[in-house]
Amino acid sequence: MLQMIIDLSKHIKVIRPEAKSMFPYSNSIYIEDKVPTCIDAGSGGRAYADLDVNNIELLLLSHNHFDHVNGISFFKNARIWAGQEEERSYRDSDFHLMFTGYLEWPRLMGDINRENLSKYIVLPADVPAKRGYQEVKLSGLIKDGDIFELGETRVTALHTPGHSPGHYAYYFEKEGILFSGDIDLAPGGPWYGGGLSDFDALLISVQKVIDINPRILVTSHRRIFDCKTDNIQELLRKYINISLQKEAQSLKYLSEPRTIDEIANQDFINDFKQKTPFDSFWTKMMIDKHMKRLIRLGQVKQIDSKYYQRI
Ligand SMILES: [Zn+2]
Repeated sequence: MLQMIIDLSKHIKVIRPEAKSMFPYSNSIYIEDKVPTCIDAGSGGRAYADLDVNNIELLLLSHNHFDHVNGISFFKNARIWAGQEEERSYRDSDFHLMFTGYLEWPRLMGDINRENLSKYIVLPADVPAKRGYQEVKLSGLIKDGDIFELGETRVTALHTPGHSPGHYAYYFEKEGILFSGDIDLAPGGPWYGGGLSDFDALLISVQKVIDINPRILVTSHRRIFDCKTDNIQELLRKYINISLQKEAQSLKYLSEPRTIDEIANQDFINDFKQKTPFDSFWTKMMIDKHMKRLIRLGQVKQIDSKYYQRI
């Protein structure tokens, strides 16, 4: 069995899910100090069973995605803080639907019925929330540079949008530890398929993490990276380059008019080979964002509602 609580310093610990830290799970941070605090709530009930969750006074969220917030109900006595840019997604189900990106489903997926597909997705027993919108009562809103004094530990919230508009990383400057959330060094590259995801913002946010050059990098979905054994800056550059390379290859492919579906089926877009309709959807959402970006950069034109071509 995986060790679920890993000490990074006297007060700062990583909580790993008992299963792989992939959707619907994610790593979280536990700060065992005067103000017992957690960052994110997606590690699952089995992982939090090793923790006195009733004692947690503060829950800081990286962003409002299901795999980071599904365990909020475990933290009964915690004040919950989240990024100000996503405040509405915690109280307005219509806004939340737009935020997820699913309003674009009919345009990109045609007649495939999303609700029917969702019905058959079974979540593990220690994930307490249902997928989709859940109302969360927030005690406070986080903005860039906010500092939380937790006793001997001090953590700074860093606005790192792109993956989602109110995505925050958390920096323990004294210890050189950075929790970068879904700037996650996934082997397939970053994800920015949401309704309010923004690739240009993500480029800036990844650079922000590179410039911090943390001693230890904890992400939501992978192992712990340590500068003693990992070139963290190089890993981050490679990570964002995966997307930039796909964009460059897409541009090359647009020598003739092509649709988003055609681009999505090319080998250089390898993150979905028609796995599930959801994978297909997110890939198309990301290609759509690159098309809009390339149009803005004057490199691509849209021919009609479906076709794009290089200028
Ligand atoms: Zn996310």
